[in-house]
Amino acid sequence: MTPFTYARATDAAAAIRLAGAAPDAKYLGGGTNLVDLMRETVERPSLLVDVTGLSQGIEARADGGLLIGAATKNTALAADLDVRRRFPLLARAILAGASGQIRNMATVGGNLLQRTRCAYFYDDAARCNKRTPGAGCDAIGGFNRNHAILGTSPSCIATHPSDMAVALAALDARVLLDGPEGARSVPLNDFYALPGEQPEIETVLRPHELIVAVEVPALPFAARSTYRKVRDRASYAFALVSVAAALDVDAGGTVRDVRIALGGVAPKPWRALKVEAALRGRPADAASFADAVEHELAGAVGLAGNDFKIELARRLIPAVLAELAGAQP
Ligand code: SF4
Repeated sequence: MTPFTYARATDAAAAIRLAGAAPDAKYLGGGTNLVDLMRETVERPSLLVDVTGLSQGIEARADGGLLIGAATKNTALAADLDVRRRFPLLARAILAGASGQIRNMATVGGNLLQRTRCAYFYDDAARCNKRTPGAGCDAIGGFNRNHAILGTSPSCIATHPSDMAVALAALDARVLLDGPEGARSVPLNDFYALPGEQPEIETVLRPHELIVAVEVPALPFAARSTYRKVRDRASYAFALVSVAAALDVDAGGTVRDVRIALGGVAPKPWRALKVEAALRGRPADAASFADAVEHELAGAVGLAGNDFKIELARRLIPAVLAELAGAQP
C-alpha cells in the first residue's frame, strides 16, 4: 500500500476543506472497497479524509419520502422500520449485498461509489482501460461471464456492483452533493456515466465533491415492491442479474404504474424505462410482462461468456412482475 495521510472530518464543510489540501485526496467511508483498492495499488491517494462522522440520520419525511445521511451504515438502513414498510425493495436490495460484517461497516455514500469487481481491473498484469486509460480491455476477449450486456462500449464492459443503487434507481432517488463549488442535487439515474471512450470516468462528481445525503421521493405503491438477485452463491456474491421492481395495478387488472431497475447487466444501475413504458396501461399478465421485456433486451449484446444473462433477464423480470401482480390488494 502506498503511504498516505489520514484526516477526519465531522461535517461536510470540514471534509471539503481538508480534501482541498491534495488533488488526489479521497473520502473514506466504511473502507470496504477503497481499502482493498489501495492494498492492490489500484487507488493511491496521498490523503484520506474520513467522512464516517457525517450524518447517519434516516429522516422519514411527512410527504412519504426519505432523507438518508451519506454516512448511514447499510445495516441501519436495511433495518429501518420505515424503509422496510414503505420501500421494501430497498431493504431487500441491501440485505442481498455483501455480508453482515461488511454491511455493518459500509456507508450509503460509499456503497454508491464502490467500483466494479471486474477481476482484470484489480490485476495490474492485465490490460484495463478503466485502470490505465488507453491500455485496452482484457475482459472483452477474456473471461466475461460476469460482465455487462447493456450500456457497454468497445472500451469497457464492466458492471456496477451495488445492489442498493439498483433499488435507488427504481425509486428515482436523488444524490445530494456538496463541494468547492457549492451544493447541488443530481438524479441518481444521471449520477453514473456510461463508459463510452472514457471508462475511468464513472460519475458526474466534480473534484473533491462529496455525497452528503440521498433523497428518496414518496412512492406509495413502493410498499408493494421487491428485489430479486440471481447469483452464483446464495450469499456474498455479486449479481448475475438482479431486478428491483414496484408495481401498481388498478382494480381492473391494468398496470397503472411500474418501476423497474436492473443490476449485474450494465456499467450503472440500469433503469428499465422501455419495459416500464411498454407496461403502463397494459394488462398485468404474463403476456404483457414477456412482451415488455423484449423492448429493453433488444439492445442487449453478449460476448459469449455472458450471453446467458440475456435469457436470464428475459425470465427473471417477468417472474418478479408476476410475483408483484399476485400481491396486489
Ligand atoms: Fe477494465 Fe472495464 Fe475491461 Fe474490466 S471491462 S478490464 S474494468 S476496461
